[in-house]
Amino acid sequence: MPPKIYGVLGFPARHSLSPAMHNAAFRALKINAEYTFFEKKPKDLEGFLHSLSKENIYGLNVTIPYKEKVLEYLQWKSPEVRFTGAANTIIVKDKNYLEGWNTDGIGFHRHLTKDLKFNPSNKTATILGAGGAAKAIANQLARREAKIIYLYDIDKDKNLSLAEKINKEFPKCHAIPANSIEGLDIENSDLLINATPVGMKENDPLLISADKLHSGLLIYDLIYNPPETKLIKIGKEKGARTSNGLGMLLYQGARSFELWWTDKKAPIEIMRQALNQGVAKL
Ligand code: NAP
Repeated sequence: MPPKIYGVLGFPARHSLSPAMHNAAFRALKINAEYTFFEKKPKDLEGFLHSLSKENIYGLNVTIPYKEKVLEYLQWKSPEVRFTGAANTIIVKDKNYLEGWNTDGIGFHRHLTKDLKFNPSNKTATILGAGGAAKAIANQLARREAKIIYLYDIDKDKNLSLAEKINKEFPKCHAIPANSIEGLDIENSDLLINATPVGMKENDPLLISADKLHSGLLIYDLIYNPPETKLIKIGKEKGARTSNGLGMLLYQGARSFELWWTDKKAPIEIMRQALNQGVAKL
């Protein structure tokens, strides 16, 4: 039997650590499958999505810039996809039937609770950014009964619309959109999340004033390359607990794996090891 094919769809996609993580899991569980990358230009996206069955492709992860674009090709969308307007996992059920899931939020939540032992219930969180990943995380935090979520994005409309959505769907959680970064109440927050790309480049500024960081905070930066952003470094100096985004990457991948292989448990430690080895080579 030829191996079942899985892969990450994006543009670019070659930098992704997902192939290393999933191929390690396939090998460990002796699954006859291969995970590759599908780097597709926008003009080739539609043709590719229509050829999945023919190419023996059973599942995809989706990354920048296609997480929103793929929605129009999905026949079924999970509640998380409907909330965020973005999908990062596709199950190819049949030639004409693609299921879309978003495992970013659950990946974040599993890392937060299992590894970092942080229970968001009744806590105050601040999220920088209101894009795809921020929406997935805000959805999870609100679902798990965070008390307050402060939101800030340079795009005020995105910020406002995410806050409205949370307040409407999760009445126990109070989402507060800040007009400016100074309007965030980081002093009284338990959790600070960076869900913007700011911090990926060496010369990127620290988005918030260093004075606001404190030892009562868990600072979670979704960026994992570099492994220590300015926010994490200064946070540590201020006595805060910190985490980069590698754990979220691990658990979102593990959730995708279990959506594709419903009878199997993702081999978390093998996948973690593969990611650690991959990130050391970046
Ligand atoms: P996205 O949809 O583009 O969202 C990023 C948001 O941040 C955008 O709304 C952007 O606004 C906003 N932003 C940019 N600069 C800002 C600033 N100076 N102040 C406030 N807001 C600012 O991207 P995403 O997919 O959510 O990803 C966000 C970050 O998370 C990226 O670094 C990505 O690599 C990372 N990520 C990590 C994982 C993981 O598993 N660890 C998973 C998903 C994403 P504009 O659109 O107006 O620029």
